[in-house]
Amino acid sequence: MPAPKEDFFFLPLLYRWMANLQLWRISGYLLVFLWVSLFLSIGTLQAQLILSNLPLQRGFGKIPLVSTRTLSNWEIPAAQKAATIQAFCSKLQPFFRKHRWKENPCGTVEWHTHYRSTQYNPMLYAEFGTGSNTTLFLGGVHPDELTPIHLSFRLAQHLHDHPELYRNQDIRIIVAPLVNPDGAFTSPPTRTNRTIDVNRNFLTLDWYEKAHTSWQKKNHMPRFFPGFFPNSEIETQFQIFLMNTYQPTKILSMHAPLGFYDYDGPDEAPQPGAPREFIYTVAKKSNNYRVVNYAIFPGSLGNFAGYERKVPTITLELETNDTTKVYAYWKQFFPGFLHSIQHAFSSPVLSLRK
Ligand SMILES: [Zn+2]
Repeated sequence: MPAPKEDFFFLPLLYRWMANLQLWRISGYLLVFLWVSLFLSIGTLQAQLILSNLPLQRGFGKIPLVSTRTLSNWEIPAAQKAATIQAFCSKLQPFFRKHRWKENPCGTVEWHTHYRSTQYNPMLYAEFGTGSNTTLFLGGVHPDELTPIHLSFRLAQHLHDHPELYRNQDIRIIVAPLVNPDGAFTSPPTRTNRTIDVNRNFLTLDWYEKAHTSWQKKNHMPRFFPGFFPNSEIETQFQIFLMNTYQPTKILSMHAPLGFYDYDGPDEAPQPGAPREFIYTVAKKSNNYRVVNYAIFPGSLGNFAGYERKVPTITLELETNDTTKVYAYWKQFFPGFLHSIQHAFSSPVLSLRK
């Protein structure tokens, strides 16, 4: 009979078939597992890029890099300046109202502009007096530090209202109240200009050697990214433009919330008995504010202007970012600002153009 033979053949075939089925099932599981892990790892990688390393992502994209070749692209044509400033001042009003600051930010000051930012915001500055003893005030380099923005706009309006403070006195004051407008108009405001910490981007002698290792020590936090190259940001170029154009004999840049005055620059030679007299007087007139010798950073303004070019540079760190305290800060710091403005150095400082 052929039947048992058939059974004999049929059973191993069935087993083989079942074994194959098992294999397929296992391979199926394996495939699903691989897909899920691939999906998860791509997700994690993307999250990492988005959360911790935005600059890396931009490294593969188009970088709006400013160079000597492209610098003129950032200039605002003369015919468009007035309208650009007016539009920007209107845009600043809700920004002020949001922080419950009652003033009209631009007020009645005669504002100038030269460059626009990546987001087409003009970088404003105002000029008071025509003398040679020139003080440059900078605000809003790190616009997530809100209190300095109010203080510097208020300073400009006050100087506009009180020409007796500088007229016929060989004094000139330049106020740039919002150096980094793009950082101010993100929600919430950021320290960077959306990508780069402008106060780590100046071409200082230690930039190539130390800027990125210094950033590494900050765990590659995007808010401290010094840029792919030094001087690559229009906000950096804007500050250099102000220094080159007006040759300030001293600079005061406003920040928050570390709570001190820091000074970078030469001691006031030739008075060996009174080194740094300038900064201590400014601090004394600011209700005896604390003076510290804070670390110098690759690519910072204090390093670029104060340490390397010997232009006395003060960093004012207000104590808080509390926007309700701006009126108290004005009272506390204006006398120090006034001393900065009036103080004339007995020794010539090095030229920025050297
Ligand atoms: Zn700051």
